[in-house]
Amino acid sequence: MNKIVIAIDGYSACGKSTTAKEVAKALGYTYIDSGAMYRAVTLYFHENHISLTNDKEIAKAIENIEVTFRYDEEAGKNLAYLNGLNVENEIREMYVSENVSQVSRIKAVREALVLQQQKLGKKKGVVMDGRDIGTVVFPNAELKIFMLADLYVRATRRQNELLGKDQMVDLEQVKKNLATRDSIDTTREVGPLKQADDAVVLDTTFMTLEEQVDEVVNLALSKIVKEKETGMGS
Ligand code: C5P
Repeated sequence: MNKIVIAIDGYSACGKSTTAKEVAKALGYTYIDSGAMYRAVTLYFHENHISLTNDKEIAKAIENIEVTFRYDEEAGKNLAYLNGLNVENEIREMYVSENVSQVSRIKAVREALVLQQQKLGKKKGVVMDGRDIGTVVFPNAELKIFMLADLYVRATRRQNELLGKDQMVDLEQVKKNLATRDSIDTTREVGPLKQADDAVVLDTTFMTLEEQVDEVVNLALSKIVKEKETGMGS
């Protein structure tokens, strides 16, 4: 069966990673959370007091950072590791969320992570979510989804997610964080968040997770069949 690349981009907390994870499971594909990579770099910068305006310090730090993923049976997904240490929980903390967009607008950081993401998806059969996957990382992805949702709905979903991890965060704080990140992510010079011309828009405001997954899996299956037909004809 022909394998394709599925790129899921969109605003913060639209349900991209939850959807991507389930779509990957349904298709037997690998799910790659590109946001986790930017979050892990942010954690490293924070722990090592890297100045965001010192290019030399940044370049040296990037050389010392290795972000990897390991599949965890219990969690049913890949967990992020920073230099061999499991950082999956730490990178979801609010202080990382509050600094990640400032780190991910740095050109050297993006160049290093984009290269790594391209390597991870080289064999296809991947679902990758992020901000620039369909535009920069995999501009030739067979299926591109662009997700959006109402800010209040997104903030409420994210607040509940954090509550599930025993993190009590004020709704206004979550809302402000999402809006700030969206603003920095859409206006940065390198790899800004934007809809690819050939992306399918998915507004998840009134959709359940199940509906989101069904929609993307159906779109993926039609693409896979099409790829197979084209492949046979050539
Ligand atoms: O996907 P998630 O919300 O965890 O991403 C955290 C942050 O990482 C985003 O707000 C954005 O600043 C950055 N990011 C990015 N490009 C990607 C994925 C994430 O700039 N492909």
